Amino acid sequence: MKIVVLVKEVPDTYGDRKLSLETGLANRAASDAVIDEIGERALELALSHVDKNPDAEVVVLSMAPATAQATLRKALAMGAGSAVQVADERLLGADLGLTAEVLAAALQRTGFDLVIAGNLSTDGSGGVIPAMIAELLGVPSATALSDVEINPGKVSGVRSLDGATMAVSATLPAVISITEALPDARLPNFKGIMAAKRKPLETLSLADLSIDAEDHSASRSIVIGLSETAPRAAGLKITDEGNAGERLAEFLIQNRFV
Ligand SMILES: Cc1cc2nc3c(=O)[nH]c(=O)nc-3n(C[C@H](O)[C@H](O)[C@H](O)COP(=O)(O)OP(=O)(O)OC[C@H]3O[C@@H](n4cnc5c(N)ncnc54)[C@H](O)[C@@H]3O)c2cc1C
Repeated sequence: MKIVVLVKEVPDTYGDRKLSLETGLANRAASDAVIDEIGERALELALSHVDKNPDAEVVVLSMAPATAQATLRKALAMGAGSAVQVADERLLGADLGLTAEVLAAALQRTGFDLVIAGNLSTDGSGGVIPAMIAELLGVPSATALSDVEINPGKVSGVRSLDGATMAVSATLPAVISITEALPDARLPNFKGIMAAKRKPLETLSLADLSIDAEDHSASRSIVIGLSETAPRAAGLKITDEGNAGERLAEFLIQNRFV
């Protein structure tokens, strides 16, 4: 079985994340770049399947700036067998539609039985890429799974909703996305880090995928306005001078907390 895991490079959520007010894009220089944690969990799901089924193969796929090779090497160090990166300057600012089209074309080229993605990235937060890719590829999609079972020819899982759970299954080939309910990813060990240096990492351009980015300029969604969130106002400190209870109650009433 060939499992392709979609990993996105994102600004580290532990750091200071900034949007460029000129372009509306993430300011990638403002923070460290890492594999999105949900992508690492998706990779962990694929790798734990390989632990039990050594014939299975795991490929990581990312559409990311050329500088993202280090994060892909980390995925290889964790245990993926190979990596594919779509890197093309004309993809800077790609919207959801173009991203889905590019990833679907790369998946068609790579081939797959199962595609595993995160349900939502921590930066773009569109939450629709996996379903869009499944639609473009004409395969079933099961999204936001909090539990997954991979079997020959079939993937099953549980979707947790407010107050209910849904059991779903799909025949392979299929695209699934997973939630943070799935286990944390393993850490790369020394042997994995050394092995990753020799593992294949293929870089593709739009021309390799026969996609003309200019064709999409008319229908592409663009950022037309952007403003910084106002900084949070300082909190109110009440010093007890015999009337702290009253002032506290006043504050709660004024702010409609009670
Ligand atoms: C040169 C270049 C610069 C880019 N700059 C930015 C940027 O500044 N900000 C930004 O948000 N995006 C950037 N991207 C990536 C791209 O524009 C977004 O990934 C895309 O719009 C997806 O939106 P989302 O994260 O909201 O998707 P969601 O639907 O929230 O993602 C859900 C899941 O889909 C998969 N997925 C999503 N995007 C990718 C991807 N690119 N590669 C592999 N798997 C993916 C992951 O598994 C993810 O967990 C850049 C790409 C390139 C090539």
